[in-house]
Amino acid sequence: MTTWFFWLFAACYTVHLVWETALTLLNNAHIRKHAGEIPGYFRDKIEPERYRKAVSYNLEKARFGLVVRGYDVIVTWAILLSGVLETLDAWVGLSGILHSILYCGAVALALTLLRLPVSLYSHFVLEEKYGFNKMTAGTFVLDLLKGIALGAALGGPILVLVFWLYQKAGGLWWLWAFAAVYGFEFLMAAVYPTFLAPIFNTFTLLPDGSLKDAITALAKKIQFKMSGIFTIDGSRRSAHSNAYFAGMGRLRRIVLFDTLQKQLTEREILAVLGHEMGHNKLRHIQKMLVMGFVTSLASFWILSLLIGWEPLYAAFNAGAPAPHKALVIVSLFGSHFTFFLKIVTNALSRRYEYASDRFSVEVVGDKEAMASSLVALSRENLSNLTPHPLFSFYHYTHPTTLERVRAIQ
Ligand SMILES: [Zn+2]
Repeated sequence: MTTWFFWLFAACYTVHLVWETALTLLNNAHIRKHAGEIPGYFRDKIEPERYRKAVSYNLEKARFGLVVRGYDVIVTWAILLSGVLETLDAWVGLSGILHSILYCGAVALALTLLRLPVSLYSHFVLEEKYGFNKMTAGTFVLDLLKGIALGAALGGPILVLVFWLYQKAGGLWWLWAFAAVYGFEFLMAAVYPTFLAPIFNTFTLLPDGSLKDAITALAKKIQFKMSGIFTIDGSRRSAHSNAYFAGMGRLRRIVLFDTLQKQLTEREILAVLGHEMGHNKLRHIQKMLVMGFVTSLASFWILSLLIGWEPLYAAFNAGAPAPHKALVIVSLFGSHFTFFLKIVTNALSRRYEYASDRFSVEVVGDKEAMASSLVALSRENLSNLTPHPLFSFYHYTHPTTLERVRAIQ
C-alpha cells in the first residue's frame, strides 16, 4: 500500500512539523531572552508586573501548542495507518449522495469531538488562569451544539449540491461546484453578521453620545456606508477585545466588543475604527476576496484531478476511489503540501495593516491615539512584545506592535 505518494506526503508532513516546532522553540527562546527587561518603547507604558504576566502567558500558550501538535501527530497517523477512511465507508453503508454526505458529516463530527479536550483545556485552564475566560460551562456546551447545528444546516445542503453536480454536470462539474460554493460563501459573508452572528451574541445599537457622533462624523467624512454601529457582548466569553466590520453593502455594520470600550479611550476607539474603515476604503477586503476566488478555484480543479487518481487513496489507506473520500483527504491533509504559501498571504496582509494605519492617521489625524491604542491592546491582551523575527515573518498577519508604532511615528 505504500506508494511514492505516501512517502511524498510523509516527507512534506515531516518538514512542516519540524519547521513549526523549530519556530516555536526559537520564539520561546527569544521571549525568555527578553523576559528580564521590558523593550524600551514600552517601558513607561506597560507595568513590569503586566509584562511578566505577558511573558509567562505567551510561554505557556506556546508550550500547550507543542502538546497539541503532538496530539495532532498521533491523530493524523492513527487515521492514516488504521485505514479508518476505508472502514468508515462500510460503517455508513449507504449509497449515492446520502452516503457521501453522511461520510463527510461523520468525519466532521469526529474531528469536533477530537478537538474537544484541546478546546476545554484552552478555555477553562489556560485562559482562565490569566483571567481571560469569562465563559461558563453552559455557554461552552451551548456554543458547541449551536456550532454543530449550524454546520449541518449550512454545510449539509451545499455538500448535497456539490456531490449532485459531480454526478450530473459532466467534465466541468468542478467549475459549477466552485461557482456554487463561492456564491454561497459570498452570500454568507453578506448575511452572517445580520442573521447568523446573533445566534451566538447579543448585538446592541451603540447609544447616542459623543462616541457615536464621532464615529458617524468620521464615516460621513470618508463616505463610508454602513447600516449601524453595534456593541457586542464579547465579555460573556472572553476578556480579549476586538472591533470589526462585517457584512456587505447595506448590511455592513461596525461591531465594537464591549471589552474594547472598557479598555480604550474614545480617541483610541476612533483611531482603531479609522484603521478598520481603511481596510475597506483601500479595497483590501475586495482584494482578499479575489485571492480567495483564485485559491478556491484552484482547489476545486485539483480536487477534480485527484478524485479518480488511485495513488491518493492508496497513500491514505482509503480503499476504492470516491469523491467524498477525496474531499475529506484534501481537507484533512492538503495543508501539509501548501503551508509555505502562508508566507505570501501574511506578507500581503501585513502590508495592508501598515496601509490602514496610515489611512487612519490621515483621516482621523490622531497619531498618538493610533499608537496608544495599539499599546493598550497589546497590554490588555497580553500580546507577545518580543516575537522572534522569523516567527512573526511566518505566522503574523499583523506587523508587531513595535513595528506598527514606529511606522506610525
Ligand atoms: Zn487591520
